[in-house]
Amino acid sequence: MQAPNLYPNSGPNLRNFDLTKLKEYGNMMVEYGGNYQKVTNFTKRCCLDKGELMRLFFLGTGAAEGYPALFCECANCQEARALGGRNLRLRSMLLINEDLLFDAGPDLGAVAMRYGLQLSRVRILLFTHLDDDHFCPSNLMWRASENRLTPLPLLKVFGPPAVIEVLLNPPAYLPGLDLDDARLSLNSVKPFSMWREDPYCFYSYPAQHGRGEKDALFYSVYDGKHHVLYAVDTGPWAESVWQALAKHKFDVVILDETMGYESSGGGHHNLSSFLEVYRRFRNSGLLREGALFIAHHISHSNPPHDRLVELLEPQGVKVAYDGMCLILD
Ligand SMILES: [Zn+2]
Ligand SMILES: [Zn+2]
Repeated sequence: MQAPNLYPNSGPNLRNFDLTKLKEYGNMMVEYGGNYQKVTNFTKRCCLDKGELMRLFFLGTGAAEGYPALFCECANCQEARALGGRNLRLRSMLLINEDLLFDAGPDLGAVAMRYGLQLSRVRILLFTHLDDDHFCPSNLMWRASENRLTPLPLLKVFGPPAVIEVLLNPPAYLPGLDLDDARLSLNSVKPFSMWREDPYCFYSYPAQHGRGEKDALFYSVYDGKHHVLYAVDTGPWAESVWQALAKHKFDVVILDETMGYESSGGGHHNLSSFLEVYRRFRNSGLLREGALFIAHHISHSNPPHDRLVELLEPQGVKVAYDGMCLILD
């Protein structure tokens, strides 16, 4: 079976994009954000210039150990193994359009094969922090010219200083990175920064993720029309973060909901602290009308997908799953 075209925003098959085929393709589904409802309109809108639409593709939606956790036989993990489908979660990564990637963890190669991704088209990569479910430096080593037969456009990498430091001085078991040869530029980001990389504008915020030396960040991205907040691996924020967020209104908020019924441990959210943040976003007017609020980075401390959906969707929260694709109009 031929892989469907996963790039409705661009590419040669733009006008032939067939939603029905995509729906047949296992775990991959297309859903619509904003006011988008009709398939016919959707297909028409796909022909508009880039920037009109923004595509969010959830490549992985699990916590550090994956779901089911690699070596766990708890009831949730066993149920996920038995049921498969949306209950299976690889480590969290988000691809926006085809050129902007949030994190590159240990499952990047697996998702690239699963979904037929052209990773060479990613121009901007934002790392949130050093934890290895988000940052697997060997992914970038495969950009070296000896590992590819075709030229590469430049990839601009952004991340906290600790991440950039590891890329500049990788551990002894990894080869060094020749930045020119691998077509990479490395850029340290401090919290509360703003910078532009056409057609996007980025904002960084300090995450609350335990040990301070990790300098964990989370980000928002604005394309001139849609503003998306991507906040994994963070617990409750300081007031200074809320003040920075209050300068914006978001169309999509993607928030850590790692811990489910367990205690959040401070560096993540559980169900109760997640819903507190959701209420504050709504009550403080930080969400645009029709905004999506999405639970992400989900561990086996949460029930499997369908039961988590039963818990959260009545409250207006969408639960991410691997392969979820949102088209914002
Ligand atoms: Zn994580
Ligand atoms: Zn488990």
